[in-house]
Amino acid sequence: MEWETVIGLEVHAQLSTKTKIFSGASTQFGADPNTQACAIDLGLPGVLPVLNKEAVEMAIKFALGAHATVQHKSVFARKNYFYPDLPKGYQISQYDRPIVSHGYIDIQLEDGEAKRINLTRAHLEEDAGKSLHEDFHGLTGIDLNRAGTPLLEIVSEPEMRTAKEAVAYLKALRTLVRYLEICDGNMQEGSFRCDANVSVRPKGEEKLGTRTELKNINSFRFVERAINFEIERQINVIENGGTITQETRLYDPNKNETRPMRSKEEAHDYRYFPDPDLLPVVIAEELIEKVKRELPELPQEKRDRFMQQYGLSAYDADILVSSKELADYYEEAVKVSGNHPKLAANWVISELLGVLNKNNLEITESPIEAAELGHLVARIADETISGKIAKTIFECLWEKEGSVDDIIEKRGLKQVTDTAAIEKLIDEIIANNPAQTADYRAGKEKLFGFFVGQAMKASGGKMNPKQLNELLKKKLQG
Ligand code: ADP
Ligand code: MG
Repeated sequence: MEWETVIGLEVHAQLSTKTKIFSGASTQFGADPNTQACAIDLGLPGVLPVLNKEAVEMAIKFALGAHATVQHKSVFARKNYFYPDLPKGYQISQYDRPIVSHGYIDIQLEDGEAKRINLTRAHLEEDAGKSLHEDFHGLTGIDLNRAGTPLLEIVSEPEMRTAKEAVAYLKALRTLVRYLEICDGNMQEGSFRCDANVSVRPKGEEKLGTRTELKNINSFRFVERAINFEIERQINVIENGGTITQETRLYDPNKNETRPMRSKEEAHDYRYFPDPDLLPVVIAEELIEKVKRELPELPQEKRDRFMQQYGLSAYDADILVSSKELADYYEEAVKVSGNHPKLAANWVISELLGVLNKNNLEITESPIEAAELGHLVARIADETISGKIAKTIFECLWEKEGSVDDIIEKRGLKQVTDTAAIEKLIDEIIANNPAQTADYRAGKEKLFGFFVGQAMKASGGKMNPKQLNELLKKKLQG
């Protein structure tokens, strides 16, 4: 039997507001426990929440960036449940009237295909506090600093078919919220969290299978692994005559498996109802227009511009716009290179990103500055150095040995382009290798490589390859 996988993602993006969604307490990360929770976040009697306008504007920004609809009227609702990190006994969220609906994210698949993933909705809500288990023997500590932090929950349609598509969607979504500057996208710190809903069905079947919801997947790698584990598990269960239970499952990265957390039977009845302390959110068209005017160039627009302006492939452009910082780096390098966009793209993508990844560094932490990489490209383009020598210089730049021109000068790496000097060297090589010369002239053309090698060795790789080839051919012909 052939199976088809169905995946829908729920993403919680922590909004980068200065203060909380319903109080004036700071949202700064890393403060001492319970120093950033005010009476409202603690849910003390008699307090009233006041909606943070910045959070609303960020939701509007998201809607505009994701081609979605801003609802002119949305409603906050109470989601009731008991947990120690939720002192009010309810979370303020949105239920049947979310602030954002529809929209889509376009993803780029590895085979070069593009696919559109539709969004169902995005709604505003407050985060809960944190339970701390580690430092408390037999007890649980509660830190309410995170309580009331604004979240945008972004819900996709069940339109992804592989774990790789899910990762591509998540990456595109994270790139978007970072461009919009509404979320820092940090998965480790939990400011960009994902729950994956996964089901399988026989290929060709229209009805969706029973889904499970996977939690605790806080890196792209874990998202892919958790989904793939879950697909296999579900198929196994069904093929062995069992049925899938709708439940929440926890991913364990150490064992690379998912296991049940709570089933539908134990699932909470949240008794949603409109929050009587908060008025409906009414958004005027003028506010939407204002936010629209302030929107930066977004990833897809930038990608299209890079393809047009710099003649890049969709694949290369997609990589370069994956973060705004990387795109800026590239454009700076192109400018300094004297307008050699394709060569600059090759050096950024194949060389720089390669070593950055190997060393686990972000583009903002690159030891080689954009202007310096641009200089390097300029020196290749004006034939001061060969591509091969450029790799040596690149390594020197990485080690902070100085500027490109300094390194060329100090290490004597300038390419030999003086025809007379090249000819002199060729004459010497021909004189020193009479047997090979005779064989070549007798028709053994494969020996050409031998002469190129000799010349490169004698010049320390600095010979201009094009000139060398031409002159060598002429001289060998005699
Ligand atoms: P809930 O609010 O209970 O989590 P939703 O209907 O809002 O349920 O769905 C949450 C997510 O689950 C959405 O991203 C949706 O696309 C996805 N989803 C719903 N049904 C399925 C299914 N059968 N298989 C995979 N994903 C699903
Ligand atoms: Mg859910």
